[in-house]
Amino acid sequence: MTFRAAVITLYPDMFPGPLGVSLAGRAREEGKWSLEAIQLRDFAADKHRTVDDTPAGGGAGMVLRADVLARAIDHARAVMGDSKPIPVLAMTPRGRPLTQARVRELAQGPGVIVVCGRFEGFDERIFAAREVEEVSIGDIVLSGGEPAALMLLDACIRLLPGVMGAPSSGTEESFENGLLEYPHYTRPAEWEGRTIPEVLRSGDHAKIAAWRKLQSEVDTRLRRPDLWERHEGARVQSASGARREKRDVDQ
Ligand code: SAM
Repeated sequence: MTFRAAVITLYPDMFPGPLGVSLAGRAREEGKWSLEAIQLRDFAADKHRTVDDTPAGGGAGMVLRADVLARAIDHARAVMGDSKPIPVLAMTPRGRPLTQARVRELAQGPGVIVVCGRFEGFDERIFAAREVEEVSIGDIVLSGGEPAALMLLDACIRLLPGVMGAPSSGTEESFENGLLEYPHYTRPAEWEGRTIPEVLRSGDHAKIAAWRKLQSEVDTRLRRPDLWERHEGARVQSASGARREKRDVDQ
């Protein structure tokens, strides 16, 4: 099955951009995913091809018009035509922060329609009117949604079947189990007086796995207390759920 991506943008030339090379580029050539870059201006109603207007209530900047966006989204939905509904995502700093779990869900679906904002962003009415999911790629402000869309697509594409070399390289990575990944090393064994941890050269797979698990937990606790708290919360919850289930079975 081909994963289908449509991107609505004022800058279609930005696509496929970095997704035209390496893993994603090869996967596209092999038909594992497809891309349609849709020019938002094509859906303007006037001869000046206007897509934006001044903010209601005043203030600086311009806002993308809901009517123009709606026509572009309706067109994208029509050309993508699939038996399963294709999610429509708008890149916005106010959106729900993108997670690896959401990326995995999207990658398992038929594809995505991604809408890129510019200027001050979108007329708020478009989100409810077209069931648009707002997605943020972090607490930063970009000048446009295109780099955010490229990130989102890159994250999805690498998870598509047959895109990554070793199947395990997807599941052991940071965030996949709610933790950051353990640190990596490679040859030379000694470099600028720094050595590779002895255990990684021991050949003892059980010890290596235990070391990696510990590193992953320690790093997550130190670097991302927010992730660690969530991970611990989920662990405690699933342990008490299992205890409850066992009690129910025993009774
Ligand atoms: N006025 C907006 C605000 O303060 O939230 C910022 C608009 S920004 C200059 C223009 C566009 O860049 C946004 O509409 C959005 O599409 C994109 N963008 C900027 N930062 C983003 C982020 N962190 N995640 C996703 N998209 C972002």
